[in-house]
Amino acid sequence: MDDGSRLALIKGRTPITDGPAAILDACEVALRRARDAVSVEIRSALVGIGISSPGPVDPWRGVVVQTPNMGPTFHDVPIAAELSARLGLPAFLDRDTNVAALGEKAFGAARGCEDFIYLTVSTGVGGAIVSEGRILHGPDGTAGELGHTPVSMEGQCGCGAVGCLEAFVGGAAMARTARQAVVDGKSPFLAARAAQKGVEVIEARDIAEGEDAGDDTCRSIMERGRRAFAVACVGFVDSLNPTRIVVGGAISDAQGERLLGPARAAVASTAFRTPRSRVKIVHAELGGDVSLAGGHPLVIARLGDPAWRGGRITPVSATG
Ligand SMILES: [Zn+2]
Repeated sequence: MDDGSRLALIKGRTPITDGPAAILDACEVALRRARDAVSVEIRSALVGIGISSPGPVDPWRGVVVQTPNMGPTFHDVPIAAELSARLGLPAFLDRDTNVAALGEKAFGAARGCEDFIYLTVSTGVGGAIVSEGRILHGPDGTAGELGHTPVSMEGQCGCGAVGCLEAFVGGAAMARTARQAVVDGKSPFLAARAAQKGVEVIEARDIAEGEDAGDDTCRSIMERGRRAFAVACVGFVDSLNPTRIVVGGAISDAQGERLLGPARAAVASTAFRTPRSRVKIVHAELGGDVSLAGGHPLVIARLGDPAWRGGRITPVSATG
């Protein structure tokens, strides 16, 4: 609805191993069930379908270019055209973090903001840039991948590059560092955890708990993550002049002010004077399913934009 309230929610397992056709079928079934769950008046007032997907995506053609967690055959999938044809409604796709940013702008921590950035600090680090009220896509739709902003000359990232923000504060990267610390015999706390549940399932939460228990190695991993985040925020403030930096994601939710406090301090002391006096670094407000909230403003924005389709250059395909 216009106020962000939700009329129906259908959850289902994604049949990843069955390939793209099965995944599209599952999407169609979920959409039909959601449509059947609301009143006839609401059903007849539906104007479009908003789709949020991990990137990279081509938002203009509505194609999921490639996504790591949906199986090896799920690439170059024209999900918007498919679901549009099957449901008889226009469908619009964007990267999950972009849709989340639209959700926070419409209903959450970025209400009233025309220029802000959204960050999600979780297993990985994702981002979105909203400039003059619109998502900044760049010619290929890949803009806003702020988690891969370099903050160091070293530190291997999962993306293959070196020194990315995600390599320091992303949950998967911190867990890798923690597992190496166990192997190197550097952390009594993590060694005890590894003995308890197995070294391969050590996760960011264990490191945070180790820090609270006084383990030096855990504290240094967490500290490094917070410093990397703070340094990146200074860069975002200087390069983008955002009104707000809205931060969501599991690690941010768990760390709270411990993550955002040092970032505010670093921005206040080292960012350029003019943008630092404007920016506010705040927690996201919409929680884990923020992308669902973003579906509504995504559809409304694209429906009202006659220039949305056509007139764009063809993005470079990540797989081509
Ligand atoms: Zn990276």
